[in-house]
Amino acid sequence: MHVELHPIFADTTEGKTARGLAGACVHCGFCLETCPTYLDSRDERDSPRGRIYLIKQLLETGAASGQTHKHLDRCLTCRSCETTCPSGMQ
Ligand code: SF4
Ligand code: SF4
Repeated sequence: MHVELHPIFADTTEGKTARGLAGACVHCGFCLETCPTYLDSRDERDSPRGRIYLIKQLLETGAASGQTHKHLDRCLTCRSCETTCPSGMQ
């Protein structure tokens, strides 16, 4: 996935690291069925893939809405999603 960094992130180590991490996602969706928050809500924004897309939006616009905060905050950081990702997403 291509991520075009917003100017506020462009020259930062954190921005470049996040771009590299998010860029590994190929949107296959294999992770969805291993994510407890997605299984509970069935809302794409509560899935690993959806959260990666929200982070892409944040990196490209330089801003995060209340909805973005809500769905990212719901992540349990259990890392169950990593076990099924063919791209080795972290
Ligand atoms: S860390 Fe857990 S809750 Fe967060 S996206 Fe991955 S599987 Fe879902
Ligand atoms: S399994 Fe990996 S590559 Fe596929 S959508 Fe989920 S995070 Fe992206």
